[in-house]
Amino acid sequence: MTFSLTAPLFVEVSVPLPIDHPFTYRVPEGEEHRAQVGVRVLVPFGGRKMTGLVTAITDASALDGRAAKDLLAILDETPYVSERHLAFLTATARGCLAPLGETLRAALPRGLPRKEAPAAPRMESFYRPSPFPPGGAMTPKQRQAYEAVRESGGISSTDLSTRVPGGADAAKRLAAKGFLLVESRPRPVGLHAASLPDLAGDLAPTPGQEAALSRIGVAVASGRHAAFVLHGVTGSGKTEVYLRAVEQVRATGRQAIFLVPEIALTPQLLGRVRSRFRDGVAVLHSGLTPAERSAQWRHVRDGEVFLCVGARSAIFSPFPSVGLIVVDEEHDAAYKQEDGVRYQARDLALLRGRMEDAVVLLGSATPSAESFHRVRTGAATLLSLPERIGGSGMPEISVVDLKGRADRRGADRYFSPELEAAIDSTLVRGEKAMLFLNRRGFASALTCLECGTTVQCRNCQVALTYHREHEALLCHYCNVKRKEPEACAKCGGHKLAQVGIGTERLLSWVSKRWKEARVARLDSDVTRRRGAYAEVLSGMQQGEVDILVGTQMIAKGHDFPEVTFVGVLLADLSLSFPDFRASERTFQILTQVSGRAGRGDRPGNVLFQTMSPESPAIRKAAGHDYAGFMEEELAAREAMGYPPFGRMLLLRLWGTRQDAAREAADLVAGALSGPMSAHGVRLLGPAPSPIARVKRRFHYQVLLAMPPDFPVGDLFPELLRPLRERVRKLGARLEADVDPYQMMV
Ligand SMILES: [Zn+2]
Ligand SMILES: [Zn+2]
Ligand SMILES: [Zn+2]
Repeated sequence: MTFSLTAPLFVEVSVPLPIDHPFTYRVPEGEEHRAQVGVRVLVPFGGRKMTGLVTAITDASALDGRAAKDLLAILDETPYVSERHLAFLTATARGCLAPLGETLRAALPRGLPRKEAPAAPRMESFYRPSPFPPGGAMTPKQRQAYEAVRESGGISSTDLSTRVPGGADAAKRLAAKGFLLVESRPRPVGLHAASLPDLAGDLAPTPGQEAALSRIGVAVASGRHAAFVLHGVTGSGKTEVYLRAVEQVRATGRQAIFLVPEIALTPQLLGRVRSRFRDGVAVLHSGLTPAERSAQWRHVRDGEVFLCVGARSAIFSPFPSVGLIVVDEEHDAAYKQEDGVRYQARDLALLRGRMEDAVVLLGSATPSAESFHRVRTGAATLLSLPERIGGSGMPEISVVDLKGRADRRGADRYFSPELEAAIDSTLVRGEKAMLFLNRRGFASALTCLECGTTVQCRNCQVALTYHREHEALLCHYCNVKRKEPEACAKCGGHKLAQVGIGTERLLSWVSKRWKEARVARLDSDVTRRRGAYAEVLSGMQQGEVDILVGTQMIAKGHDFPEVTFVGVLLADLSLSFPDFRASERTFQILTQVSGRAGRGDRPGNVLFQTMSPESPAIRKAAGHDYAGFMEEELAAREAMGYPPFGRMLLLRLWGTRQDAAREAADLVAGALSGPMSAHGVRLLGPAPSPIARVKRRFHYQVLLAMPPDFPVGDLFPELLRPLRERVRKLGARLEADVDPYQMMV
């Protein structure tokens, strides 16, 4: 488009608010040469000033006869967001049926800041051993801290406390006594998780790793998009493949994004990344201050680093030229954002890879049904690492049927003779055991023995969980806490029984049964306390824990060579969820937790206890038969038209008044039924959500089932825009969730 010098110039501006469309502003005379796509502008908006982003340059025809206000200022000389990155964010908004403004708010640091405040560096203490240590005694903890400082030559207080819990305090006292020298240094913004020596970098790659890397290398060198699914059994060295692929991309002058499910749960990985790539890495994690986050974001945008590691939102890393996107544990549901812009980071990685000619590497021991299907249809190439590094075999898995114990009480019901014998012999050999139970708390419910009523949350339609350490009932949905009632609210009966088992109760039973064993627990209740996670991990690393009890937190990528036994208390706990992914998730979690056993030079053993030993997820996981499981699972999904053989759009309607939410659901279902049947889309509902009341809101759902190639982003934005407005007028809200994971609420 060309513009005459006399005609006024207009720009379309998106503001970081959940609004479906951009706004048109007039560029003040004389400023036309500064108006570019991607610069920030200050605009008058509803009586106040707001920062927005220029998404297009246009002329008066965009106004359709309406009047346009002048924008107040152009804030950048060069684009704040490149045109290429803006194109990706626009495609994201479209694919997720989310307003662009809301997508900008999710993808850019602090929404869209008007000013870039320089980040004042946070300082931390740095310790070195004194060349002239005084005489005098040390406490055992101080001795431990002193040795750690001496071994490292010099160490920051942050790193010290990840190696020696409480080490920072001890070092402070040692410095006061003159054993250590201390200075204040700016704390590095990037990695400061446990730093571990990177030993794997010097090892020669296995034949499997070599083959995978040569395929990836060819794709990287071509500079074009390619998708790989790296299927590697637990302990097979996937991380080394990722890191060497990053090196390949770095050599081409392009950058890499490395996604992990949860950054806080990957200290071992972060240690390796840091020792391998040093200052070339930006890390996005929740411990950053907003200013630090902005600073990291700018380093990435300006290409001052070549690797960005982070959880799902790091897919929005604004690198100038992304050549590789790694998605580790690609099957993990943590890649799905569950509020606001409900994106799936793995799917966005594939979208971005196609748009920006990047190689996408999806790694897992249990690739998702979607990725397995992609390989079968030729949309992705399979790379396999079928063997564990160092030649240790896969653990031996046996299955114990718990049905015969259903009438027993207490620990007896959950501790089968096989489980007890396995733990006994593990401890006798001086080895370590892990016990996995996918439910936290003490008892899963408090039930009246007179009338069978279960104590429920007053905000949510769910049973409250009893937590003994808080001496209270907690809601796992809204976090409300209440005292244990003395009598049943329905019948007044006084016999309230703690029913079911959680990790808290399991730990108390374990410490009663194995009195001499040193036990520890790891779940999100424990890690709420700062530093608790690192403490438990370092206890495991130093061999100070004999039996570790925990939720799926213990299943994530840790490598403890002394663990030779893993017991799964209730393998079918996640099977009964009303969700078409329940079987797949059960298979994945069982495979992952089994993979913790026998990673050193001693063989591992695993025991699944279950009420449904015949279920495919449990049988196939016990047989290490991933391909067999997926064949059955995909056949079942194809028969039902579930993803990946179809797409789904879940429309959530919620409100604080039940009649408003229901009316909104009826309205949406009614308005869509005509257009949907015209497009061959199945409409299910409206219906109350499986958990119809959460956080005092009433939830309804309308589910749309479409063919796999249905153009979701083309049809729905126009259809939903007027509906959102009408739903709002009823006093309810409409949220679109494309390819949903969470179907309960
Ligand atoms: Zn608790
Ligand atoms: Zn609740
Ligand atoms: Zn009762």
